[in-house]
Formats: sequence, structure tokens, C-alpha cells
Amino acid sequence: MAPTSLVANHACLCDHTMNQHQHKTAQSSTNADQQPLNESLAQIYGDQIRLATISGDADLKPIKLDWFNQDWKQRGPIVCSRRGDGITKHNAIGAHSGPYSIYHALSIASGQLDSKHVPDYTNAQPPVDFAPQPQWYDKEKIASIDPLGHLAPWIYGDVAEAENVEVRPSMSITKAILSLPEIKEEVKKGNLKPDGKIVLNEDGEMAVTKIAVDPVWYLPGVAKKLGVTENELRRALFEDTNGMYPELVTRPDIKTFLPPIGGTTVYIFGNPEDIPNPEKSLALRVHDECSGSDVFLSDICSCRCYLIFGLREAAKEAQKGGNGVVAYFRKEGRSLGEVTKYLVYNARKRAGDTADAYFHRTECIAGVKDARFQELMPDILHWLGITRIDRMLSMSNMKHDSIVDQGIEIVERVEIPDELLPADSRVEIDAKIASGYFTNGHVYTQEELKTIHGRKWDGFK
Ligand SMILES: [Zn+2]
Repeated sequence: MAPTSLVANHACLCDHTMNQHQHKTAQSSTNADQQPLNESLAQIYGDQIRLATISGDADLKPIKLDWFNQDWKQRGPIVCSRRGDGITKHNAIGAHSGPYSIYHALSIASGQLDSKHVPDYTNAQPPVDFAPQPQWYDKEKIASIDPLGHLAPWIYGDVAEAENVEVRPSMSITKAILSLPEIKEEVKKGNLKPDGKIVLNEDGEMAVTKIAVDPVWYLPGVAKKLGVTENELRRALFEDTNGMYPELVTRPDIKTFLPPIGGTTVYIFGNPEDIPNPEKSLALRVHDECSGSDVFLSDICSCRCYLIFGLREAAKEAQKGGNGVVAYFRKEGRSLGEVTKYLVYNARKRAGDTADAYFHRTECIAGVKDARFQELMPDILHWLGITRIDRMLSMSNMKHDSIVDQGIEIVERVEIPDELLPADSRVEIDAKIASGYFTNGHVYTQEELKTIHGRKWDGFK
């Protein structure tokens, strides 16, 4: 039987029995309970809902996308939108802007955003040229970023127009000044010297180039990095998101997925063009988001301290003529999220917070102790052209192993100096060291970890 599209009739307000519906539309759903749309949305979306397309549908004409083709014209744009003729021509599953795709939908539903709005990207192009790197076209290297994501609307504007599809950027690049109180303090103490170029002045303001990156997954590559089959990856993504992306299973011919997850921001100190140059030294901090500490200075963990240390050392490396890079990943609470994180905090505080039980508390609630999947993290390093890291500003064995496994050399691992750690964060850091995090200092035994405890909490019921 020829596959058919998943189609539901929006205007269906019929009184078929459930059995009749199941018989009539084995691959469809019905909208018997749905209220009619207001006039403006009805105009935008029409009467029929095409739930998903299926490989083999007669009207499909996906825009050609040849992921690792070195000729950007031959490679083609990523089209991940139903706008215009996108329903039959899209070549990517998911939606642009990660979790913000939902706010985009709210803006349209509420009438605040005209669905026909065409972005005007005049003057929005990158102020810095990032030369294409061999890694951009290497099947073994990048699987979770569109290497041309920062140029897409400019280089594929003519394709978008001719094909009546939407091509959106998945990366953007800008320049900025950072002004951090701790860095100002470092300048005051003489630990960091203003040079007017990297550290601009006595207030410790620092000049950076910033890159915002939304994830774009090449599914076969992601599957390979995670050690699963593409089919296993697609099925788990489909099932575990409550069937949110049917084309993960109905369009095996589409290999690209824009997942609804947070992205990455890269902060570069020094001249970005020097990063791929092996003659130049590089200091790198890979930092995973911890909003409670990074922004609100909670003292239960070492995150902000390490972040500031990373920024300081990155600036110093640039002052020495090299580069400093801080890559900030939106992977809150080891990618388990802040809701899980606070539940774990409660369990820790009630049980008597000791380092020996640190990971166990997370595992009890989340089932795993970590969901960050560092296997995908080096992609941004490949994109930047990094082949060697002189100073790795991280103690994480998972980050280290993943980077080295991807063929990037790490010369020196730099742990956070003890004096920068808040007292209450010792539970976390010592538990991590005992689990394999890098240190030149003492690795506690399981028995010793029982004696490392956090603040006493009497206020917990
Ligand atoms: Zn933290």
C-alpha cells in the first residue's frame, strides 16, 4: 500500500463513533472536539491539518541537503519550517530556536506576530569572519551544529526565495564587553592587568567575541557519537517526547533534527582568527549552565567560581598572545533540569549532606547521575578549528575524555584553586573528584567522603 500523509480535517465536527474514526483514518487523528479557529488563524492555517509527511508521499520535494559537501551551494540550506511550500520541501524535523520555538508559536496564536513576517537581516551578519575549517566537512567530527548556521540567510536567500521556503540562521556572532565584579576585584589586586585590548580598563571590563549556537543535529552522526543506531535514536526521541515529532519515524529520509533544547554561547578572548593556528596557545573552559550559582551566586556548588576562574584565565591567555575560549552550554543541573536539581537538594539536606552520598541522591530521583552527553560537546570546538588545548580549565573527566576521544589534544588540565571554592561546595567537588574528576590534590576514599558534609539545615520539615 502506498504511504499516505497523515491528514486530519480541521473542520471535522462530526459524530462518528470512535471505531468508525479508527477505521476511516488508521494513520490520522480526528479533531471532533476541537473548537473552530478564529478567522485570522483559520486564514493562516487553512481547513486541513497535515499532521506529518511520510517518506514516499507523492508531493514531497525536499530541498537538497548534502551535509558534508564542501561546496556550500551543493550542500544546500537547512529548511525546518512549514512556511510557504515548506510542508513538502522541508528537509529537517523539529523547529528553529530550540525551546523558544514555543514562544514563537504563542506570539502567532495571540496575534502579536504576523505569521507572514519576513525577517529583515540587514546589518545582522557576523562582524568577524570564521574561515571554514576541514572539520566542518568531516563526518566524524561535527554532528550537532550546522557549520553554515551563521551565514544561512545570506548565502541561501536566493534558494529561499526561488523555492518559497524559509531559511533561518541557527548561529549568530557579535562583539561585546563583559563587566564582572570578580574581575574588577582581580584587577584591583593586580592579578589581571589592563592592556586596553583584552582587559580594557581598571574596572576590569573585557572585550569578547560572542557566538550563539542553536543545536542542529545530523541524526546519523549523533547516533554514532552516542553509540546507538539511528533507528534507536529516532524511536527514543519520538516516544520519549510523547510523540511530539512524528517525522522522526515517518521520514527516515530526513536526516536533520532541530531539537527543542538549549544551545551554547561561546565567549572568545583575543583574535578569533588565531584559534585554529597551532602556533598560538589556547585556554578553554567548557561550562555547563548552573543558573543558581552562575547568576544567583548560590554557594552549594562551585559553578560560578569556576566560570569566573575560566573567564579570568581565558583573558590572561589572550593577553599572552594566544586565545581564551569559554563555551557555555545550556545544560542546567547536568541536563536534568532545575526541578530535579532542587528535589535532589532537598533530599541531600534532609538526609545530612555528605559527599559519599552526593551522586546517590541524584540517582535516586533522576535514575542517572548525569545526562549531559559530553560526546556532542566537542562539536563547537571542531567548528572553531581547535586541534590542541594548552590549558583545559576543567576537572571533569567526562569533558576531558570526550575531547581527547575526538582527536583534540589536551596539554595541561587546570583545576580550580582551593581558595576560590565556597565552603558548602566541598561536598560536590570532593564527590566529583572521588568519581574521577581531575585533581593534583587529595582523592578522598569512600570512608573519608562520609566526613565531608555541607551546611546543617534545621529549617527543613
Ligand atoms: Zn552549580
